[in-house]
Amino acid sequence: MDFGRTLMHTEIFLHQLAQERISNGDLRHDPRTKVWAGKGTGALCSLCDEPIGVNEIEYEISVGGESVRFHNDCHRVWMMECAEIGAKFPND
Ligand SMILES: [Zn+2]
Repeated sequence: MDFGRTLMHTEIFLHQLAQERISNGDLRHDPRTKVWAGKGTGALCSLCDEPIGVNEIEYEISVGGESVRFHNDCHRVWMMECAEIGAKFPND
């Protein structure tokens, strides 16, 4: 666990945020797409809205023609929520 993060980055918070964003359509839920992992560039994370720092790994995913970026933790949470929510609300 990284204690340098704020309370907003707690696991439970991220799961709630992912559920909310996936169910209201802000975030896609297609974990089968290709993922690029690389160095952060300071771009905002598509889940928590915090910048992905240059010392962090950035996960970039192309979903439906759009690029989304995640922190390592956010990507993991997103993948888990995709599996859960994707089963309930399949993509058409
Ligand atoms: Zn994030």
